[in-house]
Amino acid sequence: MPDVALHHEVLRLRTPLVTAFGELRERELLILELTGPDGVTGRGESAPLTPYDGVPVEVAAEALAVYAGILQSFDDDTPGALMLEACREAADIPVALAAVDLALWDRAGKRSGRPVATLLTDAPLDRVPVNATIGAADRAGAASAAAAAREAGYGCVKLKVGLGDDAGRVAAVRAAAGPEMHLRLDANGAWDVDEAVRMIDALSPAGLELVEEPVHGIDAIRAVRERVAVRIAMDETAGDFGALIAGGADAVCLKISRCGGISGLLAQAALVQAGGAEVYVASTFDGPLGVAAAVHVAAALRVTAACGLATLQHLDVDIPEALAVRDGAISVPTAPGLGV
Ligand SMILES: [Mg+2]
Repeated sequence: MPDVALHHEVLRLRTPLVTAFGELRERELLILELTGPDGVTGRGESAPLTPYDGVPVEVAAEALAVYAGILQSFDDDTPGALMLEACREAADIPVALAAVDLALWDRAGKRSGRPVATLLTDAPLDRVPVNATIGAADRAGAASAAAAAREAGYGCVKLKVGLGDDAGRVAAVRAAAGPEMHLRLDANGAWDVDEAVRMIDALSPAGLELVEEPVHGIDAIRAVRERVAVRIAMDETAGDFGALIAGGADAVCLKISRCGGISGLLAQAALVQAGGAEVYVASTFDGPLGVAAAVHVAAALRVTAACGLATLQHLDVDIPEALAVRDGAISVPTAPGLGV
C-alpha cells in the first residue's frame, strides 16, 4: 500500500498582480507525496486559484484528504490510471486531481529513470517558449516591464487588458518591446462582444499575436472572432462544457490545474487539435511542480506558441535551476520524473 503525505504551502507574490478578476497577493499550494514500497516518492501539487477557477482551497484540501485514503487502499502494483479514476469517482475536482496525477507521473518517471516528457512521447521538444506577463496598470510600469522582457530575451509578452488605459499601455509596450516582439493581450473576459470588437479594432494596429479571453462564453468568443481580424484564444471559457470542440477559437490555453493534471491536459489537447485549433499551456501561478508538469506536457505536445509558464518569477520562491527561463524559453527538466 502506497504511503501518502499531504502538505500545505503559502507562497507570496513579489508584487500583487492586478487582473480583471481582482488583485492577487498570495498562492496556497497543496502538495501530495506518494511513496511506494520501493521508497520512490512522487510529488504532485494542487494550486487552486479561487477567483479564477471557483474552487476554494478548503474544497481542494477536502478532496485531497479523500484521495489520500483511496490511494492508500490500493495494492502497490495498481496502474496509476486506475488510481486516478478511483479518485475522480470519489470527487471530480480537477485542481485536486492534478496533485494525484502529477505525483503518479513523477513517481513513474523516477522509477524508470526518465523525465516525464519522454514518457509522454518519443520526441518532446528540448525547450518550451514562454511569454512574460505584464500586469502593470500604468503606461510607465508596462513599458519598463516590456523593456525588461526584451532585454531578457523573451519573444512574446502578454499584457493584461480590460484594466483602463489599455490603448496607452498597449502603445507603450509595443514601443518598449520593439517591432519583433509577439504581443498577446488577455482581457480575462472583461469585455462584452461589442466592446471587445471595438477595443480589438482600436488596439490591433500595434500588431497583436492574439487576444486571449476577450469575452467569456463560447457564443460570445465565436461572435468576436467572426468580427475581428486578430486571432482569438479561449482561456477561462475552455472550462465550459463543450467549449473544446466548439471550434469557436483559433487557439486554446490549457492549464494543469483546470485539466486535472498531465493526463487530463493531454486528453483536452487532443480535442482542441481535432477541432483545428492550436494549443498552448499556461500556469495559474502554480508552484514549481505545476510549472514543471506544464513544461513536460507542452514539450510532449510540441507547442510552438509561447506558453504562460514564466510565472515562478512572480512568486517569492527560489526558482529551481531546472525551471530557469533563458532567452524566452524553459528547457525541459532532464532529471527523472518532473525533475524538480
Ligand atoms: Mg488568461
